Amino acid sequence: MFLSKIILIRSILKTKKPKGVIVWDFDGVLFNTKRLVRDHEKIFSEHRVVPAELRLAVALLKKSGEPFSIARLMRILRKNRVLFFEKPIRRALYRNLLKYQYVSSETEKTLHHLRRLGFIHIILSFGSAPFQYRKIKAGCGKKFLEHFTEVLITKKPKHIFLKRVLRKYPALPLFFIDDKEEHIALVRKHIPQISALHYKKGWSVKKVARLVFAKTREYD
Ligand SMILES: [Mg+2]
Repeated sequence: MFLSKIILIRSILKTKKPKGVIVWDFDGVLFNTKRLVRDHEKIFSEHRVVPAELRLAVALLKKSGEPFSIARLMRILRKNRVLFFEKPIRRALYRNLLKYQYVSSETEKTLHHLRRLGFIHIILSFGSAPFQYRKIKAGCGKKFLEHFTEVLITKKPKHIFLKRVLRKYPALPLFFIDDKEEHIALVRKHIPQISALHYKKGWSVKKVARLVFAKTREYD
């Protein structure tokens, strides 16, 4: 199986004629990952892991090509002989996820608005399934998941999955939103019929919605 995990599958809206499908990247687009990284540093440093040690471990993890997870991060810290207690850190991290809302209310509103207009939302995230799942369930508020027809966490290139979405909704305009240039480039190369939008610094989900509206007008 090429997908690591399918978290949730919901039947699509039956009452409204679907207008399009939007496949969203999670980190850095819907989710305030920058803030979470800052919070991680704070929590780890409160538990004797200084930011420099943490940053080194994060860099090593990135270099390995493996998706980020707290378990992997802790393994690298241990290998680097950093001393810490796992349980209190994990508890503090989880409490923090519950406390802070990492999806802005504007994003929340825009997703809702698009859905009411007949857009189908899908999350396609590169990462480790348990870690991503925890972020989605604990860090995004209770209603967040309701916006999505599917949530997919994968370790494979995203265009593989997008081909499947295209087969599933052949008559609908399909959008793919991601803040990583390499994902966008691969999708443009392999599936040019998908509108791939590179989510740039300073963008908002509202801006994405405006671009989606402009594009769907071309289809009408
Ligand atoms: Mg991203």
